[in-house]
Amino acid sequence: MKANIKDFDPAELEGFISELGEKPFRAKQIGTWIFAKSVCKFSEMTDLSLSFREKLEQSAEIKSTLTLTCEKESIDGTKKYLFELFDGNKIESVLIPEGRRNTLCISSQVGCAMGCTFCLTARVGKIRNLSCSEIVDQYLTINKLNGGSITNIVYMGMGEPLDNLENTIRSIRVFTNSNYIGLSPKRITVSTSGLVNKIKELGEKININLSVSLNAPSDAIRSEIMPINKRFPISTLLEECKRFPILKRKYLTFEYVIIKDLNDSIRDANELAKLLKGIKCKINLIPFNEADPISYKTPPVQRVLDFQKILSSYGLNVKIRKSRGADILGACGQLAASYPLDKKIKEVVH
Ligand code: SF4
Repeated sequence: MKANIKDFDPAELEGFISELGEKPFRAKQIGTWIFAKSVCKFSEMTDLSLSFREKLEQSAEIKSTLTLTCEKESIDGTKKYLFELFDGNKIESVLIPEGRRNTLCISSQVGCAMGCTFCLTARVGKIRNLSCSEIVDQYLTINKLNGGSITNIVYMGMGEPLDNLENTIRSIRVFTNSNYIGLSPKRITVSTSGLVNKIKELGEKININLSVSLNAPSDAIRSEIMPINKRFPISTLLEECKRFPILKRKYLTFEYVIIKDLNDSIRDANELAKLLKGIKCKINLIPFNEADPISYKTPPVQRVLDFQKILSSYGLNVKIRKSRGADILGACGQLAASYPLDKKIKEVVH
């Protein structure tokens, strides 16, 4: 089977090119053609010799891995894209415009194994990891459709990116390589539910922003809504977060999906503030987006404001994140790629 060039990170492509008997710098030229100039035929890469182009044709291909099957636009300008993969599986990506930022929320897996009870993707269960090309193609397709306007990438779509660490890292290397797409690492955020062992590995291998989906001030509540907490309790998670190499002038982010009568009390806010005080971080409060068949409710606006006020009173940097794209099921936790959702949530099995 021919290798898909888009499945290599830049160093792996150099290795592949060397095996074909060519100088490694040719990999940069190929990467530039594909990712910076959108050329997907070896025959059009005119700065490569004819004989090398023929050799490439025989051993590799530049394949698009996604078929766009549906695009929906929210009244707030958020766009959701549904893609079909080669095996019939489906994934979703969401583009969120906000001022001068155009942030793409990409998927890293088909479904997810983490079982968070507030998330529709959890109900799909984990079907499989996405390949590097399937991750990168979400960006390439949507960026092209939107006139090259994507400024930021967040790994917050379907799946737990750290449960697909190899391809998450490969894709980040493609996004950040200056000969390829050339996005600044400061504009890329990986979000995790708290796979502590993988957070360490991520920080050792690559420098980007880390966002942790915390969602509870205590192990009792967190274990109820995020099964991963039974394996990695809050204290272990926060210890690892403190060791994560943060980019200059950047912060760790903690996401807190605030759910009515579950984690939204005054006491919860005080406990959360005590947990996070002293950590260089910002907190995003995300009012829960109601979606069938999940029975949780969105808290009243005033309760969210009170929660924010308490956190702020401890000197914490906290924002209420506007719910974007909820009318097209494009908001946080609502991505399920039209899968049937009547299954029971699966527990973490790692
Ligand atoms: S919230 Fe994220 S980690 Fe949790 S089940 Fe959903 S996609 Fe997976």
